[in-house]
Formats: sequence, C-alpha cells, structure tokens
Amino acid sequence: MTNKTASTKKPTLILYHPLMAAKGYPVLAGRVQPAFEYLRETGTLDSPHVKVEQAFEVSEELLVQVHTKNHIQQVKNSGYDAASLVSAGAAVRAGEGVWLGEARNSFAFTGCAGHHASRDSFWGFCYYNNSALLIRNLQQKYDVKQFFIVDTDPHPGDGTRDILGDDEGVFHLNFEASFRERYEIESKRHVDVPFPSNSSDGSFVEAVRRLVPPLARQSEAEMILWNMGHDAHALDYGGFNLSLRAFPAMTKILMQTADAVCSGKLVVLLSGGSEIFVAQHAISSIIRSLAGLPLLDEDEKDEPKTELEDVKNSARKLVDTILVKLGLK
Ligand SMILES: [Zn+2]
Repeated sequence: MTNKTASTKKPTLILYHPLMAAKGYPVLAGRVQPAFEYLRETGTLDSPHVKVEQAFEVSEELLVQVHTKNHIQQVKNSGYDAASLVSAGAAVRAGEGVWLGEARNSFAFTGCAGHHASRDSFWGFCYYNNSALLIRNLQQKYDVKQFFIVDTDPHPGDGTRDILGDDEGVFHLNFEASFRERYEIESKRHVDVPFPSNSSDGSFVEAVRRLVPPLARQSEAEMILWNMGHDAHALDYGGFNLSLRAFPAMTKILMQTADAVCSGKLVVLLSGGSEIFVAQHAISSIIRSLAGLPLLDEDEKDEPKTELEDVKNSARKLVDTILVKLGLK
C-alpha cells in the first residue's frame, strides 16, 4: 500500500458530546443534537470515511495556559461550565487527531462557542477559547510552529485576538459583518475584514477564495483552523446573507489550501448559529466535503441572494486593498 492510498483512507474525525446540547448556551445548543441526528439519518455517520468520538473535558492544566484563574472560576459560576469543558475538549482533540495523522481532517461540534472568550473575560455565548486551547496544546506537546485561523463567523473574533494576537505562530484572518468602510491590518499576523453585512455568496466566497490561499501560504501554516459560524446564513441571526451553497464552497477552498500548504491539515470548529434547518444542512455539507462524500441535493437547495452593485464593488475593493497592503498583489 502506498502512502497516498493510506492517507486517503484516513477518516474525518467528528467530535460530539450530548452535554453540548443538554447544557450548552440556549441560543446555540438547540441546533446541536438535530444537526448530529441529521448526519445519522442521512447515513453520513455510517461512512467508513467518518469517525465519531465522544469529546472529553479539556484539562484544568491546559485551561490555565490560556485563561486566568478568575476567568475559570467565573465560567464555573456561569452554569455553562459542563458544556464549555466538553466543547473545548472537542476542539483540542480535533486538533490533536489531525496533527498526529489519525484523521485526515476534523469537525468539532460545540455547545458554547469560543471566539469571544478572552484571557480574563467572556461574552456572546463563548466561555473558553476553543481555538486558543487547541493551539496551546499542539504548541506545547508537539512544538507546532505555525497556525492559520480563518474566522468566517460574522461576529469579530475579539477573544482569539486578545489571546493569540501577539503570538508569532498564529495568523488570524478575521471576517466580520460591518457597515464600516475601514479595514484593519494591524500587523502581518492578523487581518480584519469588515465585510459589507449584506454580502451574499458571490462576494463572500470570492473573498475567501482570494484571501485564504495566498495568506495561508505566506504564513507557512502547518495547520488551518476554520472557526465556522452558520449565523452567516441569510436565515440565521448574524450579518451576511449567505446561502447553504456557500458552506461547501468555502470548505472546498479551505481543503484545497490545506492540501497545498499543510498536507491537508484542516480543523473546523463550530461557532455561531441557531437555526436548526441551517445547522443541519450546512454542517452536513461541510462534513461530507471534508470526508470526500458526495453532497446531498437537499443540503444545497438554496438560491444565493442577489447582491447590489455597490456591495460587490466595496467587497472587491476591500480584498484588493488587503492584498496590496500585504504585498500579495
Ligand atoms: Zn457569530
């Protein structure tokens, strides 16, 4: 058996825990079990290309590397401790399984999201920073040097920036829905993309296509993390007007980038989103893409919204400006 054959047989690792639905933050938790059950009903979980593991709790030892003791106590007091611990544990295991080559790529369900959790504070349904915990674990245990985070959740990844903003080993590409005209490139390690909040697939997927491959390559990433919020869908609560088709399209771009840059090492972390219908189809199409399974027709039965010309123009201009500023155009 050649190495190539062996690697294509590695499964997509899915991390899940019933506490995510039972004890997660209500806005986010309601979608978790229906989305997982949909994977079962449609046969995705029966595929040999998919492996499901029950998430474990993240260790206290790792938590204190990322959050203050005061923060950890506040989470314990919040009532969302149990779901936060298994959500963070899911992310950590999703990263480790891919890094060790046990899985081709991975998807971590969560009951509490992570990107608004800073070192010493939290808000917006996020308690522990799942991405930062995944990264600290791999840095400390395996000396992984470079990570590339793509955050397409329409809300800003402020907690991730607080914890990892000074980390030389992390590049943070942070999309956020905004009416602001300005953009920020604070350093060569992070880029904020305040995208027009009424953007749909045309502009948004195109921006991912134009920004992710060159930035990931430039950062010499050894692993790509995708903080995926389906609150970016037109029917969900966040900004952006994405259709269901945007999710497999973005997965494809991220997989191709990971193949080209870091031997396919891609970890998807579930972030915002509440609508059960959207969660079921978006998560299904992402996982089926990750596992190399054919997409289901019903997961793509959604027409992209028409975009206004000025939205298209300002989105294109924003991406052009970022590429020029980073010396990539
Ligand atoms: Zn969000």
